[in-house]
Amino acid sequence: MTAGIAESDWAKAVKILDGAQEVCLACHVRPDADALGSMLAVAIALAGRQAGGAAPRVIASFGDEPFEVPAILRFLPGLDLLAEPARFPVAPRVLLTFDASSIDRLGLLAGSTVLAAELIVLDHHPSNTGFGSVQLVDPSAAATAVLAAELIDRLGVELTQDIALGLYAGLVADTGSFKYPATTPAVHLLAARLIGAGAEPGLVARELWDRAPFAQLGLLSAALGRAGLDRRACAGRGLAWTTVTRADREPAGLALDAAESVIDLIRRTDEAEVAVVLKEADSGEWQVSVRSKGNVDVSAACAALGGGGHRAAAGFAGRGEPEDVLAALTRQLG
Ligand code: AMP
Ligand code: MN
Ligand code: MN
Repeated sequence: MTAGIAESDWAKAVKILDGAQEVCLACHVRPDADALGSMLAVAIALAGRQAGGAAPRVIASFGDEPFEVPAILRFLPGLDLLAEPARFPVAPRVLLTFDASSIDRLGLLAGSTVLAAELIVLDHHPSNTGFGSVQLVDPSAAATAVLAAELIDRLGVELTQDIALGLYAGLVADTGSFKYPATTPAVHLLAARLIGAGAEPGLVARELWDRAPFAQLGLLSAALGRAGLDRRACAGRGLAWTTVTRADREPAGLALDAAESVIDLIRRTDEAEVAVVLKEADSGEWQVSVRSKGNVDVSAACAALGGGGHRAAAGFAGRGEPEDVLAALTRQLG
């Protein structure tokens, strides 16, 4: 499953971690279940480890300001191992990064990443820029959680229920509940192991997708009510899109992550190969989610606009009128 990674790189990572007194962990900004779930699983594994003496000091974070765990991820075990970026070492001896394709995806922790003496990168983005002293990067992996599971195995740590839960959350999220093409037999075998170790699929699905505050219905109503369809976009393959504005969520006290589920409704549109949701952050910047059904490479278009991602799921950030941000994207999509 991790065929893309050299045996010598796994060995290097294990050796570095075996000798470490302190291990720092960072995942990408505005973390999703794969980023945070993988990171916390490895953090728990390291913190409980007694390799020839005391377990290393473990400090995990992500570079957002304000520093807030997305509401739907607060069920993940290991949140007590998180520290805000201001408390993160400026120049870590050992730093592991999770699900980040480039250093700038680490936000406020980018500086610490540059200054880390040993930088172990766990990622599965085809667009990974190749940063780090040890690259555990496999674009064929369905999730960073797959790589995190292998690292934990290689460290000789048993899967506990808490570790399995974080890994399972990452795996189920990045495979779209085992629906996307990267869902190989090996993915299901890993899922079976994680469930066997105590991860509860029903609980994870409920926390990630099957619950929300009542106010979320108003947000969905507003966003779906102004959805648009451009049949001529993407060389006639069609594009469906909408926005989620600050006005949709601020009166109800909803954070930006309340808008995450909208893309999964927009992307169902039969008449559109590409789906786009522009989400207005508290700063006024648009966080743009882009999905394709597989015939259009949206990561290339997003990369051209300063973002990135996978062939069928990518994103970027933009400023200005939403129509203009969308127009810049449709130009890239051709
Ligand atoms: P999202 O739409 O936020 O769920 O993101 C979909 C995919 O695009 C994920 O793999 C993200 O890592 C990637 N992505 C989203 N926004 C950006 C960005 N600003 N820069 C690079 N990659 C991004
Ligand atoms: Mn991610
Ligand atoms: Mn991922």
